[in-house]
Amino acid sequence: MSKEQIKLTERTLGSISANKRASWLWFAVLLLTYFITIFFVNMSVRSEAVILIMGQPTPLRLLTGAFSSVANMCIIFLVVFYRRTGFIVALVIMLLQFPSLLASIFVQHNFTSISGICTTLMNMAAMIIIDRNNISIDNYQNRIRSQAVTDGLTGLPNRFAVNEFITDLIHRGERFAVATFDLDNFKNINNTMGHSTGDMILKELANRLKKNADDEKTGTLDLIAYNGGDEFALVIRECDSPDKIYRTLASYEAVLEDKMTIDDCDYYLSSSIGFSVYPEDADNTDEILSHANTAMYEAKRSGIKILRYNKSFSNDDHLLEIERCVRYALDNDTLFFHLQPQYDISHNLRGFEALARMKGPDGNMISPADFIPAAERMGIVDQIDNAVFRKSAMFLGDLIKQTHTDISLSVNVSVKHLMRNDFLDEVRDILDTCGVPARQIEIEITESVMIDSVDKAIECINELKKMGVRIAIDDFGTGYSSLSYLSEFPADMLKVDKSFIDRMNESDSSRQYVSAIISIGHVMNLDVISEGVEDDDQLDTLKEIGCDYIQGFIWGRPMEADAAAELVTKTA
Ligand code: C2E
Ligand code: MG
Ligand code: MG
Repeated sequence: MSKEQIKLTERTLGSISANKRASWLWFAVLLLTYFITIFFVNMSVRSEAVILIMGQPTPLRLLTGAFSSVANMCIIFLVVFYRRTGFIVALVIMLLQFPSLLASIFVQHNFTSISGICTTLMNMAAMIIIDRNNISIDNYQNRIRSQAVTDGLTGLPNRFAVNEFITDLIHRGERFAVATFDLDNFKNINNTMGHSTGDMILKELANRLKKNADDEKTGTLDLIAYNGGDEFALVIRECDSPDKIYRTLASYEAVLEDKMTIDDCDYYLSSSIGFSVYPEDADNTDEILSHANTAMYEAKRSGIKILRYNKSFSNDDHLLEIERCVRYALDNDTLFFHLQPQYDISHNLRGFEALARMKGPDGNMISPADFIPAAERMGIVDQIDNAVFRKSAMFLGDLIKQTHTDISLSVNVSVKHLMRNDFLDEVRDILDTCGVPARQIEIEITESVMIDSVDKAIECINELKKMGVRIAIDDFGTGYSSLSYLSEFPADMLKVDKSFIDRMNESDSSRQYVSAIISIGHVMNLDVISEGVEDDDQLDTLKEIGCDYIQGFIWGRPMEADAAAELVTKTA
């Protein structure tokens, strides 16, 4: 990294959360007040003058203590608010007082100056204590600040730091490119070799990428950062032509694809890289990062290794329209839910799954298969989950009041939502305000949670279980989770994905596959529900192989709340 690059990086990272110092005007005011009060101390201590205070004649000498206290306070404030600078200035002032105080005692035999010496020494002791304290607070703050901008695993700047860095470059009006790298199939390494191997690979890769950035062989000035998961970001400066950017990115790709040996095992990584250029492709930080991501997803989808952002990737009118509808539905609270019944195998109602529903401006329904991914892209899927959870729990609360029903309500929760720190408070709040007992709520989590962030997910799920909420693993079989994850996961219910039910009767092996999933569920003490059951053959097979519950069009499509309430009262 060039000196200039290091300076810019440090300046950007250093400015993030830097301390706000008190203003220099107050510094001057404190100093001035100090000198004025010291002047009054010196003048009053020897004065025989008498002044009137509230009509009472008072010797001016009696005010010396008050002046001296104000002066001491000024010194203390200097050290507290202006830290090192304040300490040094205050120390110099204190030290400068000694010669005159000593001369006054030893030459002029003015022994009242002994109290001045004591006060000055006490002041210095207080200043040193405050300064020591300031130093340890500063060290702690620096550590926190550096942790806030550095990723703990790789030691690279994190997503937050890269955002600030880009914003800084935009303020300077520089041309630069931002690339995002996403490792192909990295989840498989984590699943097959374990997370500690995955972490070692990420660390080694981070070292290699950083070395490539620091070597400057690419001819551009590069800053590599780690976005989390299996994603890295690269900011490329001094890139006057697209060719130069492609050459730089190709060098990172080569570094990344070099064989890596960890614990005597060889790994061959590859990645998809998308990039966008400021100012041609975007004019603000969020947009440039999101365009680089869009290009990266497009690269992944199309199998191209390095791809520059192009408007056509995200200018899909349909996608934009859906995003607008999601925003509108949330802003105007028009999102609603349907309830799909779940039955035990003897056709007794167990409960309902709440499914999000939304209408477009033409009044036609938009499928969750379209708007849930759109909300995920926009980072607001948790708001959809929350709205559906709250509204459907309100419905169940009312129904419980009227019918004392003990049916369950299943709600879908996305990974992002589950990972929010206030998720548990949100669940508690919904249960309290809607008057629904926790045991009547089941939270459906897709299998991918178990792979992405297993520890945090388990922590959160354990808390939910302590509250009495049930947990279901949704769409089971579509992810990569291994049996060891499943055994660690404190769930109550396994939901076999519809795709397995669809194929179940096509071949003996497909049927055995579903049968095996059900057996595994039972061995692990989980109930098993099959999703998307549509015909009698499927139902017969599921009865035969011991499935516990059924959710599918065969016994009930998703319906409006009124119809669900009617179903409950009819079957009660
Ligand atoms: P899911 O949670 O697996 O929900 C089951 C989906 O399968 C529902 O689709 C349901 O209508 C459909 N289904 C059930 N039985 C049958 C059947 O027999 N045949 C057919 N063809 N389909 C059946 P839906 O309502 O379109 O929801 C799709 C997905 O959207 C859900 O899959 C869930 O992953 C997601 N989703 C829905 N609401 C929410 C929500 O509030 N939050 C989140 N994060 N995701 C939601
Ligand atoms: Mg579900
Ligand atoms: Mg499902």
